[in-house]
Amino acid sequence: MGAIGGPLLELSGVRAAYDGITVLHGVDLTVDAGQVVALLGPNGAGKTTTLNVAAGVHPPSAGRLNLGGRDVSGARAGDLARSGVCLIPEGRGVFPNLSVRDNLWMMTFTGRTREEIEDAAYARFPVLGDRRTQAAGTLSGGEQQMLALARGLTTDPAVLLLDELSMGLAPLVVADLYERVADIAREGVAVLIVEQFAAAVLKIADHAAVLARGRIPWQGPPDRSLHAELSSYYLGSAP
Ligand code: ATP
Repeated sequence: MGAIGGPLLELSGVRAAYDGITVLHGVDLTVDAGQVVALLGPNGAGKTTTLNVAAGVHPPSAGRLNLGGRDVSGARAGDLARSGVCLIPEGRGVFPNLSVRDNLWMMTFTGRTREEIEDAAYARFPVLGDRRTQAAGTLSGGEQQMLALARGLTTDPAVLLLDELSMGLAPLVVADLYERVADIAREGVAVLIVEQFAAAVLKIADHAAVLARGRIPWQGPPDRSLHAELSSYYLGSAP
């Protein structure tokens, strides 16, 4: 899918509110096929809201959401999911009381067989194969994220939205997970990653955007100037 040469995911002038209080004040962001974009910013900046707008979970109050060049503003989450948008929310989207295998088998609604789903998951994340009968809630945090990713990938997404993948995980585990995410992007998926703490994701990001108080004051390549921007927004010295 997608317009040839254009961004796969595009938010332009997106505003969003809760109970009449605006928390996004005009967000412009694009993600191309195969690109990893990191959306960084302090607590409460509006990162999760931005992802939720992109996934159709939260409606924008103004602005446009384009998918593959098509205006999908106002489309519901289910419709966007069927169009290839996959959101992995913060806190790992797995069912803790079900086994790894049962978590994967639930994805047969995608039209794939249980065997196909398991084979793909275990090929990408071999450790899940070793733990197929284990309750998902007893997996390590990193393994739970792998399971959430494996479930999401079953839908064959064009756009992958990841919210705080690193939450509560050791740095080495995070680095490993992000390597897998980079592989997914190399397969042509447009990846938008929200992170509060930048270091881990910047190793794989092609582009970074800083979100502060519902606006994007800076975006560009993840280089030195980004670090200067980030410290000003995290430490509160920015206007
Ligand atoms: P964090 O890193 O702390 O999760 P964030 O950058 O993801 O923050 P959001 O979760 O998008 O930020 O929140 C942006 C603003 O919207 C915050 O002020 C938050 O309190 C508010 N907000 C988020 N969800 C709701 C909600 N369901 N109802 C009311 N206000 C909300």
